[in-house]
Amino acid sequence: MKAYDIIIIGGGIMGSASAYYLTKADPAIKVAVVERDPTYARASTTLSMSNVRIQFSLKENIQISQYAFEVLDRFETEMAVDGNRPKIYYHREGNLFLVDAANKARARDAFELQKSLGCRIEWWTPQNIRDAFPLYNTGGFLGGTYGPDDGHFDAYAALMGYKAKARSQGAEFLQGEVAGIATRSGRVTGVRLAAGASLTAPSVINCAGAWAAQVAATAGVHLPIVPVKRQVFTLDTAVKPQGPLPLTVLPSGLYFRTETGGVILLGKSMAEDPTGFHFSWDDKRFMEILWPELAEFVPAFDRLKLVRGWAGLYAVNTLDGNAILGQWPELEGFFLANGFSGHGLQQAPAVGRYLAELVLKLPITLDLSIFGPKRILAQKPLSEGGLV
Ligand SMILES: Cc1cc2nc3c(=O)[nH]c(=O)nc-3n(C[C@H](O)[C@H](O)[C@H](O)COP(=O)(O)OP(=O)(O)OC[C@H]3O[C@@H](n4cnc5c(N)ncnc54)[C@H](O)[C@@H]3O)c2cc1C
Repeated sequence: MKAYDIIIIGGGIMGSASAYYLTKADPAIKVAVVERDPTYARASTTLSMSNVRIQFSLKENIQISQYAFEVLDRFETEMAVDGNRPKIYYHREGNLFLVDAANKARARDAFELQKSLGCRIEWWTPQNIRDAFPLYNTGGFLGGTYGPDDGHFDAYAALMGYKAKARSQGAEFLQGEVAGIATRSGRVTGVRLAAGASLTAPSVINCAGAWAAQVAATAGVHLPIVPVKRQVFTLDTAVKPQGPLPLTVLPSGLYFRTETGGVILLGKSMAEDPTGFHFSWDDKRFMEILWPELAEFVPAFDRLKLVRGWAGLYAVNTLDGNAILGQWPELEGFFLANGFSGHGLQQAPAVGRYLAELVLKLPITLDLSIFGPKRILAQKPLSEGGLV
């Protein structure tokens, strides 16, 4: 039975970032990250759109992204190991959220909040939008909010960067499946692996992404987190935009942006997206539902080739669509970093740092206690529009 100070279940972006911040804060602690699939074939991290934005309507979510911007700017230097720098291809081509009559009040409130927190955010008229992106048909829209600092990066490279750096600081990455969390008298004592071995630790962090509820249930903790399938499509359009297109988000939730190689990535979260561990993608959804909507907003995209698609899982917190962060009040030593829906990648730096500070009882740099799990027990949702 091997003993650790902290065991992290799941080595995706949350687990790896947490391991990095923990071992950075205290190089003497023994941290194990248990990951069942080191190829990350089904991890949300590697199946994501890798977008980062300050365009949220909850103060803490905005502050989390402000820290992500800082970290991404210096990521390649900070994560260098023996002179090897991860290349994360961080592009800041902006995010444009379209505004119509129905979402105007909410968009205005979010815009004012973002400005008050010092973010660069612009309110664009339909003419501003057409000037910048002449392919867009702004009919029916009142304008949009444009965040020039928003952008995207290579999620796999960022994951590998955190992992390599955490390892260089002493974290151990173990291949294995956690079959259960061991507890005694209201506190965690470690984990049992499916292969039979047990690991002990006074602190266990659940970073199991869309599998978080299953993992927590082994300790009798019931989280309102469900896996929801989300699909993304890769398009080769006959008409190519003049330059990069920002991540453009319509009020319906349809979103798209340009990607390296002259293609467009597009997706939309839909109410009928199935819950469960499903990974198949469906070209009919694109052809019959998403393409007509895209072609209405970008008429030049009425001719295109659907190159491929993929599906990944959002870990959806059915209470309020926001993260659940911190120690579970009814089980000492059991920490959660769960329920990130479609925005966890950009939240990993702030969440990893916060968890490290919580677990090691260090002063808190950015207070994220608003996401604390007490609200789950109290059934008190946070309000943040348009996240799920
Ligand atoms: C299509 C799509 C688009 C997205 N776009 C964005 C975006 O643009 N911007 C953004 O910020 N976020 C985005 N996200 C969300 C983001 O990808 C996730 O919130 C984030 O990656 C969650 O990281 P994680 O480490 O919690 O989970 P994961 O990356 O899923 O990692 C969890 C890991 O836990 C492991 N695991 C699970 N159970 C066990 C067990 N019992 N034992 C051992 N290991 C276990 C799994 O194998 C997995 O590797 C998107 C997600 C999807 C699906």
